[in-house]
Amino acid sequence: MALPDDQVFPEEMEKYRRIFHAMPDYATFSNMETGKFIDVNLGFENMIGYRREEVIGRTSASIQLWVSEKDRDAAVEALQHQDKISITTYFRKKNGEHILVEASLATFKMQDELLLVAVVRDITARHQAEQELLQYRNQLERLVTQRTAELESAMERLRELTVHDEMTGVGNRRDLKNKLEMEQQLFNRTRLPFSIAVLDLDGFKSVNDRFGHTIGDEVIKAFARIAKSEIRVVDYLARYGGDEFVIVMNNVTASAATGLLQRIRNAVEHHAWDTLAAGIRLTTSIGVATYQDGEEVENTFSRADAALYKAKLNGKNCIVAPDP
Ligand code: GH3
Ligand code: MG
Repeated sequence: MALPDDQVFPEEMEKYRRIFHAMPDYATFSNMETGKFIDVNLGFENMIGYRREEVIGRTSASIQLWVSEKDRDAAVEALQHQDKISITTYFRKKNGEHILVEASLATFKMQDELLLVAVVRDITARHQAEQELLQYRNQLERLVTQRTAELESAMERLRELTVHDEMTGVGNRRDLKNKLEMEQQLFNRTRLPFSIAVLDLDGFKSVNDRFGHTIGDEVIKAFARIAKSEIRVVDYLARYGGDEFVIVMNNVTASAATGLLQRIRNAVEHHAWDTLAAGIRLTTSIGVATYQDGEEVENTFSRADAALYKAKLNGKNCIVAPDP
């Protein structure tokens, strides 16, 4: 032993000396001025690997205890202003191994000497556990992100298979596209005429403005129901978007289709819109075109749409078919 015990602690400090040596944590006393260890306990020996007599009288620098000199200097500097600090840093064991520690350092005066007491805990295992937990959490997050993306793409595929307009239950725009392609192919085989009608409510925007979107939605649904109830079972109805609907009629020319469309126009005009909100009045304008041999079906649709535009210009609430 470099120093006899009674020199380390004065008689009256015996109680503290016992605690110091009994505590399982690393604990050291050193002289703040010289930096030399005055005493170290069993916790220190176990953690760092030096025996007590190997280090007493030496400095932490001489055994290269602190891996980071910068951390050590910062701690010493901080202790000039505060009487206790806590720092997380790496310590070097006798065998060269680095350990992550949490060091609590405090200074106090004893018999005119400024002493430093250090209590140190090895947090390598705790840190490792935290890192593992963090890694696990990141892994979990990645997995959730991946699963969400998979789910979204599955939903997207499902949406692509959807053929109905969500609000009204009639065909949607994608379904209409398929329907028109099929009609063109059918025409090529059978030569039976078919017509496309485009219907649009007159002044619908003002319903939204005056009565709100919910009533607007109800109007769109009612419009779909009226059209559905007036067309034949062989005819096809789709919502193109907003207040615009499309009817595909098999085996009829534009002029023959006009009678059927007149029934719809009339039914819309005389529908009891009042049941939705007092004061609503609505009519519909309709454009209709018949498929012409050799043309793209999109062209037929465009002609029907242009006819609808004309119907609006003609004062609305009417049906227009382009000249053959
Ligand atoms: P026009 O007589 O020229 O047809 O004019 P309009 O007032 O009927 O207006 P237009 O057909 O040009 O526009 C339709 C409006 O419908 C525009 C949009 O704000 C509204 N709209 C579109 N989709 C929906 C919907 O799903 N619900 C409701 N409530 N409104 C919609
Ligand atoms: Mg409209």
